[in-house]
Amino acid sequence: MPTRINWAEAIRPLLEKYKNKKHPLDYENVYQLLVMVVLSAQSTDEAVNKLAPQLFATFPDLESLAQASPEGLWPYFKGIRNFAHKAKWLTDIARQLGSNDKIPLSMEELVKLPGIGRKSASVILRGAGKPPEGIIVDIHVIRVAPRLGITNEEDPKKIEEQMMKALPRDEWDAGMAMSFLGREICRPKPLCEDCLMNGVCAFFARVGLAGVIAMRGKEGGAGGARPAKKTPAKKSPAAKAPDGKAAGGKEPGGKAAARNAPVKKAPPKKAPKKKSPAPKPKKAVKKAPAKKTARKTTVSRHNYSYPR
Ligand code: SF4
Repeated sequence: MPTRINWAEAIRPLLEKYKNKKHPLDYENVYQLLVMVVLSAQSTDEAVNKLAPQLFATFPDLESLAQASPEGLWPYFKGIRNFAHKAKWLTDIARQLGSNDKIPLSMEELVKLPGIGRKSASVILRGAGKPPEGIIVDIHVIRVAPRLGITNEEDPKKIEEQMMKALPRDEWDAGMAMSFLGREICRPKPLCEDCLMNGVCAFFARVGLAGVIAMRGKEGGAGGARPAKKTPAKKSPAAKAPDGKAAGGKEPGGKAAARNAPVKKAPPKKAPKKKSPAPKPKKAVKKAPAKKTARKTTVSRHNYSYPR
């Protein structure tokens, strides 16, 4: 069950932060928004924004779009998932509506159009400045809402239903606000310490900051991992020759490096090549010093001992 919090109050900081923030899709009118919303399903807003200028230069309104064939739109939909179906839906919508001023601005009518569900309809209504008739539940909200605890559902439709019950209608823009939070802060590896909702968030209450840091540790939370790789990278050239494993450790390895430092400059590259291939150290030792003694006799003992 969702946590028992007065979400009508608890959600306000989130709404205040993102209230009236424009959707990431770069649309200039409702027609463009409708087209871009259809294209953005299962694709990124960035991909849709990228193709929009050329698409709308060629098809500036529903009248021109109605003249196109689905196949004729394909070249404009590069990088868009399920582009063939979307091209068909959009040409069908264009022919069905005929002109921009026929675009319906109600949930009931919008969801009758091909390729437009409740989420898309809510985005269009919001972009058109109409009062919300539902709550936007996109991929980000599906992640954020259960974490917050305002829903215990995973299905978008059920999430929306629970949120509509938990929030008064004039706060139904909470869906888009959660979407923004999900894009910026409540990412798959969340930045809870920077989140203005961490005081009421069920996930944060359950996991805690330590859990969150551990959750994203591999990526960047455990900052030590990256520096550790950088420092040895600079010292390794010197440290590797005498003792390759030491370089992979932490800074304490500096002691070993200091000991080896004087020996490294001359022998490191020559010694390993000649001695390492020799599988039988004892025999190889006797022969080696004969010809190349000048340099190796002193070094060979060191090198000899390391591999073993
Ligand atoms: S506190 Fe953390 S898990 Fe909760 S909404 Fe904020 S970022 Fe997401």
